[in-house]
Amino acid sequence: MALRAMDTLAVQGRRVLLRLDLNVPIKNGCILDDTRVREAAPTVRALAERGAIVIACSHLGRAKGKVDPALSLAPVAPVLAQYAGRPVRFVPDIAGDLVSAAVAAAAPGDVLLLENLRFDAGEEKNDPAFCAQLRALADAYVNDAFGTAHRAHASTAGVAALFSERAAGPLMAREIAALSKLRDNPEHPFVAVVGGAKISGKLETLQALARHADTLVLVGGMANTFMLAQGVEVGSSLVEADLVATAREILGSASDRGVRVLLPVDVVVATGVDSPEARSCDSNGVGPGEMILDIGPRTRAQIAGELATARTAFWNGPAGVFEKPAFAAGTLAIAEAMAASTAFTVVGGGESVAAVQQAGVAGRLSHVSTGGGAALEFLAGDTLPGIAVLEENA
Ligand code: ADP
Ligand code: MG
Repeated sequence: MALRAMDTLAVQGRRVLLRLDLNVPIKNGCILDDTRVREAAPTVRALAERGAIVIACSHLGRAKGKVDPALSLAPVAPVLAQYAGRPVRFVPDIAGDLVSAAVAAAAPGDVLLLENLRFDAGEEKNDPAFCAQLRALADAYVNDAFGTAHRAHASTAGVAALFSERAAGPLMAREIAALSKLRDNPEHPFVAVVGGAKISGKLETLQALARHADTLVLVGGMANTFMLAQGVEVGSSLVEADLVATAREILGSASDRGVRVLLPVDVVVATGVDSPEARSCDSNGVGPGEMILDIGPRTRAQIAGELATARTAFWNGPAGVFEKPAFAAGTLAIAEAMAASTAFTVVGGGESVAAVQQAGVAGRLSHVSTGGGAALEFLAGDTLPGIAVLEENA
């Protein structure tokens, strides 16, 4: 698969519509975590330094097609300006006269930031009229928002197809390179660790990993359903009763293909997440009123051993309710073991990335994927609309 890289686009003196992922958590006008802005800034700077008129755009939160001042991108503009090292002019609209006038007045090297794309219902509907409005603003298109590449929205899919000059930004290219290596050509042994609350939402990814990995390690809440599928009592743990049969199928297909599946051999249990009393026990020793809230010490050591000998390692989904310190040890141990491994290491997923940052090991991993759902869909082998449209004219 070949994608046109941003630096092959002729941008000097041209208007470039740049789709970014500036979807940051904002409370009372304050950005709680500006990681995405910081990561997007070099792309903005690179285009501006090459003499483009940069028209940056992004969604923020779930605006659902309505203007919601709490979800305005206005507070992001000064932060982007600071990281990019150049002024960023916020335009409080997405299309229409105000935007056209701002673009017309801009000079090469200028950076504009449009209002939250999802204030317009046309964005999520991939509405042709809205796509045409966005298209009219620019001469070329760059998508650097991997996290929304799995959505066929106007700014990610519809408008891209209307530009003959379109390319992937550097963040997008890096995500695709790392995830393609995992999916298409991993060095073996390939160990995949999957956890998090639930199986649902990760089903296709689990099925794909149960085909391609050498070892599939299941942890977190989702492991409960797999344990149940094997007849293990899980007390009052979180389970997806309707997915027990599916879990059994995944276990069956993994075993048919010689993929080892490891479930927790011991767990940390308590009567609730706020219970002051937690204990470790063997996986088959969970009492009726107890909930599995983390993996136990023997499981932590076992996973660390697997990761130490892996050549490729992928991790998505916490091993326990790591938001509570009493149940964070498993998740932090996996983060540490990923960092210590000499394998090509990739971590993806909202909470998993937060855990990696909490553990302070992000810099010791080969790749930290910021696109949660998009990364999982990519690994599952799905065609991502925002990527497919860029490939078409590579
Ligand atoms: P990611 O965002 O990394 O993909 P998920 O969203 O799938 O991860 O899952 C994260 C959530 O899973 C965390 O909030 C964590 O509290 C929860 N979780 C992990 N293990 C358990 C468990 N044993 N019981 C209940 N919730 C769990
Ligand atoms: Mg999550």
